[in-house]
Amino acid sequence: MNGILPRYGCSACDFSFVAGWSHQDFGSFAYCRACAADLLLRSLRSGWAPEPGEVLQVRQFTEGKWRKTQFKLPPFPGPSNPSEETYQAFLSVVLSDLACPSCSSVGRIASSPENDEPCPACRVGKLVTRGTVIP
Ligand SMILES: [Zn+2]
Ligand SMILES: [Zn+2]
Repeated sequence: MNGILPRYGCSACDFSFVAGWSHQDFGSFAYCRACAADLLLRSLRSGWAPEPGEVLQVRQFTEGKWRKTQFKLPPFPGPSNPSEETYQAFLSVVLSDLACPSCSSVGRIASSPENDEPCPACRVGKLVTRGTVIP
């Protein structure tokens, strides 16, 4: 997977989020709708995509770094070299069972905002597209 990723920002505060897989960060981004934790679903093997059967690690951005947590996703079923759409479809299933490493809420982890989703950080603004990034 690679390509240009959409960036979202809050209309009221400085919360921002990039949706999709970043080959620089060896993983894809996610956030918690309950507490606004910044998460990375990280591969230990490949910067390009999870490999079939690979278990992605959940990392959390705190104090300037992506730090390990005790959480993992179920094994990625494949295929090899999945498209972003195939990978996101996998996430939409498995994220519903994932607990947030920060606030322990289950099923509140999102890998992509919905249209006009309320901001998880300030709960005043909405998440709107703010251009794109090349990951
Ligand atoms: Zn906000
Ligand atoms: Zn949380």
